[in-house]
Amino acid sequence: MERLRLISQHIFALLANAYWNFPTKGPIYQGLGKYVCLPGLNCYSCPAAVTACPLGALQNFLATIRFNMAAGSARPGFYVIGILSLVGSFIGRMPCGWLCPFGLIQDWLFKLPGPKFRIWRWLRYMPYFFLLFFVILLPLFALDQAGFGMTWFCKFVCPAGTLEGGIPLLLMEKGLRRAAGWLFVHKLVVLVLLLIWSVLASRPFCRTICPLGAIFGLFNRVSWLQLKFDTGRCLKCRACNTICPTDVSFFDGTDDINSPACIRCMRCVSACPGASVRIEFAPYLKSSGEECQSDGCKKDNTCHAQQG
Ligand code: SF4
Ligand code: SF4
Repeated sequence: MERLRLISQHIFALLANAYWNFPTKGPIYQGLGKYVCLPGLNCYSCPAAVTACPLGALQNFLATIRFNMAAGSARPGFYVIGILSLVGSFIGRMPCGWLCPFGLIQDWLFKLPGPKFRIWRWLRYMPYFFLLFFVILLPLFALDQAGFGMTWFCKFVCPAGTLEGGIPLLLMEKGLRRAAGWLFVHKLVVLVLLLIWSVLASRPFCRTICPLGAIFGLFNRVSWLQLKFDTGRCLKCRACNTICPTDVSFFDGTDDINSPACIRCMRCVSACPGASVRIEFAPYLKSSGEECQSDGCKKDNTCHAQQG
């Protein structure tokens, strides 16, 4: 399963960045692919990007919603919200684990040798702060004199934008290099700190900043794809928690197995020696009288529903 996930991550990273003739044909691809929102973080301004970033598109939509509503051209914004809701309601936060190019970069960095640290659990709530303020409220209400908002998260926070868009564009365009000021220095500092943190801890951006992960995480408990944990089979060996890239701890009841923090990498499914973790599709559609799948258990599936 882990090999399959790695293949999927690399394929999506290549597909999202398939415009390799940018040195000859212009720094940014502007074709039809840019109408497609990849459900992962991949900067629109990356010279090789052929798809749009849903977070950038969402902020653009909110920053210009007044004018777009008046002109009857708000549909692209609703399309982005529709795509995120559709993907989330099917597979929850799985895109973070299986196709996000910035998630892949963090996975690479964490494989580098060095001391490894845990991330404080309370920082799990920070992505909701970034989602609420930098993606929704500020673009919506902090307006310039003409009545337009800004893409605050892209402009002041997003390290993926600096790495994939800002730095390559500056290297390619002399004029941009001259214009780069303190804002770029600030973004560069954020990026460098995040890259160092990614060597020391697993997926720090996904766990403490990413508003896209926060959106998908909200669907984890209700999505069509669900993880199920059978406490009766658990050996309390902790292998699932040790291997988990986002430190989800369901074996001891600290977290729900469908916690919003879970990126659905499915490592715990493969690692569990007791086969206590399994994948289910739409378990809430099954009849409650179905026989329990725990060894020797005669109850119906409601006991699983209680376990989460
Ligand atoms: S709980 Fe399991 S599927 Fe979720 S992130 Fe952790 S290891 Fe991956
Ligand atoms: S890896 Fe499986 S058996 Fe071990 S603690 Fe986790 S759920 Fe229980």
